[in-house]
Amino acid sequence: PAPAAVQPPRQFKLDPQSELRVEVLPDATLRVRLVSGTAEIFGTELPPEGWLTIPPRSKIAIFTWHGATVELDGVSESEYTSDETPMVIYVNTHAILDARRARARAAQGGDLEASQGPRVIVVGPTDSGKSTLCKMLLSWAAKLGWKPTYVDLDIGQGSITIPGCISATPIEKPIDIVDGIPLEMPLAYFYGHPNPSINPDVYKALMRELAQTLETQFSGNAESRAAGMVINTMGWVEGLGYELLLNAIDIFKANVVLVLGQEKLWKMLKDAVQSKPNIDVVKLHKSEGVVLRNSKYRQKTRSFRIKEYFYGIANDLAPHSNVVNFSDVSVFRIGSGHQAPRSALPIGAEPVADPTRLVAVNISTDMVHTVLAVSYAKEPDEIISR
Ligand code: ATP
Repeated sequence: PAPAAVQPPRQFKLDPQSELRVEVLPDATLRVRLVSGTAEIFGTELPPEGWLTIPPRSKIAIFTWHGATVELDGVSESEYTSDETPMVIYVNTHAILDARRARARAAQGGDLEASQGPRVIVVGPTDSGKSTLCKMLLSWAAKLGWKPTYVDLDIGQGSITIPGCISATPIEKPIDIVDGIPLEMPLAYFYGHPNPSINPDVYKALMRELAQTLETQFSGNAESRAAGMVINTMGWVEGLGYELLLNAIDIFKANVVLVLGQEKLWKMLKDAVQSKPNIDVVKLHKSEGVVLRNSKYRQKTRSFRIKEYFYGIANDLAPHSNVVNFSDVSVFRIGSGHQAPRSALPIGAEPVADPTRLVAVNISTDMVHTVLAVSYAKEPDEIISR
């Protein structure tokens, strides 16, 4: 592409409840500064002074509740202001969740059910703004002193760790605009592929493991129990994708389902959980600011996230390599992907593929550029959980 034209520093005066939407180029620096008033990026306030360098490829909205002037410096791919945002609805949702957290805290020491804060699951098609809404809900809660747990079930575009994992982490302060979700103590489970349909049973097994670990943590920690969870999901809402959403609601005992931007999905989920007590299914508007990303773009972001995992956002990590003998490591694949042919089975037996069975893999050049997870399991059949 042609080098981007130089753009001089420019100021934007934002009316109350409006936002400046900016897309950062992959290879040009863009800085932002608050000149006057107050403004936030996805729930995290801009510092009153100084320039913030927005990471390459970010697509952000600088929103103000009460009015602000902000300045941009550097080249952007696009920038425009809008006063049509669903932010008031989002912050009202936050206020309701906040009241539930306070109720849960007040019930501490008594009934386990009553002392459980909201378990919110955010669902919707791709590019409906799920991750962004999760960030806002988490940052607003953290700003009030709660420590909610962020659970990311999106193995394709996950925001906590490397793609291919489901993970969870406590959020103790508003999410850093530059560094993103804190990585000090994530719980991560390796699925190993960006597509759940490759082995949905393993995906479900991992969700169960993660939910169980969180349940144990909550039982010993009234504070995080009251703060609850915010769960981000995949944008796959049809067929098996829909079934996995229902599974996630069940497994994580979600009691608030926020549906972004799709009436049909809202109706389906509402009907599906009707018989279960105490689950609210709420329909929310999607923001027009959410940027659409095609599959090529998504694949690229995945590669960048893998690179970021090893090298850091600002290239500030230095991974080192370790040489091991092939004879000192065993490599396994979970689920064979093949069923035994009928002809190989005793007469009358039905072929069953155990999707969580471990299959030893021969180390070969096919594995070059593959990301593997290191298991701490003592025995191979513990691998799924350790
Ligand atoms: P997926 O299902 O594909 O993971 P999603 O529904 O989680 O997508 P987001 O990741 O929240 O969608 O949003 C898509 C992109 O749009 C992100 O890069 C996000 O930063 C950007 N975005 C969200 N809201 C706005 C906004 N109001 N203005 C500008 N950009 C936005």
